Amino acid sequence: MQHISWKAVKRLAQKTVKCRYSHCPFPDDVRPPNEMVKGKGNTYYHQACAHERDKIAEIVDYYMNNIDDRVTVAQLRNVINNIVFKKNVSADELFFDIWYTKTNNGKINSPYSLHYLIANKKLQAEYKKHLKNKKPVVDIDTIAVSDEVTYTSKSKKSDFGGIF
Ligand SMILES: [Zn+2]
Repeated sequence: MQHISWKAVKRLAQKTVKCRYSHCPFPDDVRPPNEMVKGKGNTYYHQACAHERDKIAEIVDYYMNNIDDRVTVAQLRNVINNIVFKKNVSADELFFDIWYTKTNNGKINSPYSLHYLIANKKLQAEYKKHLKNKKPVVDIDTIAVSDEVTYTSKSKKSDFGGIF
């Protein structure tokens, strides 16, 4: 275990940081750095924001590698941002829709088609099924030392099942 001086603990407790995610839904929620996810340099993110950001990058990668590598990233990102931040469909769900369509030999003709995927009733039902069957990934150490769980379980994306 790392030894931390009382002075350092106090300093840590007093210092709060802001989430640097440009789409952060809680921009006024400042927290001590140890409650945030550390990014490059001196940047910090809410866990949910870091997750959304990473998932969007994953969608872009997946699309370029498995659907069509001729689209421009800017165009693709534009559609994804529109779906995630304006239509409020989580990046997790969008990723699932694309993956499921691809895996089942469905066609995705252009980034714009993603708007149809998220509106597809069958995909919505499949995603619900997928969430139900998903085994929760829980880091026991994190739960014991932080209130991360209370924070994340409020989000519609987390499903910790009947564990608690
Ligand atoms: Zn944030």
